[in-house]
Amino acid sequence: MNLILLGPPGAGKGTQAKRLEDAYKIIQLSTGDMLRAEVSSGSELGAKAKEIMEAGGLAPDDVIIAMISGRIDHDDCVNGFILDGFPRTVPQAEALAEMLANKGMSIDHVVAIEVDPEAMVARITGRFTCSECGAGYHDDFQPTKVDGVCDTCGGTTFTRRADDNAETVRNRLSAYEEQTAPIIAFYRDKGALKTVDGMADIDVVTASLKEIID
Ligand code: ADP
Ligand code: ZN
Repeated sequence: MNLILLGPPGAGKGTQAKRLEDAYKIIQLSTGDMLRAEVSSGSELGAKAKEIMEAGGLAPDDVIIAMISGRIDHDDCVNGFILDGFPRTVPQAEALAEMLANKGMSIDHVVAIEVDPEAMVARITGRFTCSECGAGYHDDFQPTKVDGVCDTCGGTTFTRRADDNAETVRNRLSAYEEQTAPIIAFYRDKGALKTVDGMADIDVVTASLKEIID
C-alpha cells in the first residue's frame, strides 16, 4: 500500500504518517528527514541541503528523486510506504510516476490534508520531536503527558528543527503555495486526489485517513 500525503508545512503529515506506519506496517519516507540526516552526516549533499533548507527553499528535483528511488528499494518498504513531503513540485510528481512505473510500482492513494494556512505558523513554531523514537509533540496542541518525558519511549531528550522559526516558516509556506499547491490540481485532474480536514482533532484526521485506505 503506497500513499502520498500532501499539505503545507504543519498540516500534520508527519504526525499522521507515524500513526499509519504503526497501523499498516508501512514505512514513512520523509524527504525532509532524509535531507536532515545528510546534513548531520556532514556529507557533500548535506552541506548543500543545509544552505537551501536554512533559507526555506527547495532542494533540486533530481537530487530528491534519486534519494527516494534508492530508499524505496530497501527491504523495509516491501509492505509499502508513505511519502511525506515529496513530491514537492509538478516535475517531481511526474518523475515519481515514471520512476515507480520503471519499478513496476504505483501509488494507491494521494491524500491532501486541508488546513487553514494562517494556523500553520503556530503549529510549526511549537513542535518538537523525541530524539530517541521520533514521536512528534507540540507545546500547546500535543504536549507530553509528563513534562519532559516521551509518552512512547520514556526518552527525555527532544529536538526542535532549526527551520521551525516564524521567519523561515513564512518562506516555507510561500514556497508551498507557489511550487507545491499546483500538484494538488495535478492529482485532482487525474482523478486520483482524496482530501481530509486537517483542522480536525489529530485522532479524527487519523480516522478519516483510515477510512480512505480501508
Ligand atoms: P507536517 O509534517 O505536515 O509539517 P506535523 O505532523 O509536524 O506537520 O505537525 C505540525 C505540528 O502540529 C505538530 O507539532 C503536531 O503535533 C501538530 N498537529 C498536527 N496535526 C494537528 C491537528 N490536527 N491539530 C492540532 N495540532 C496538530
Ligand atoms: Zn520517544
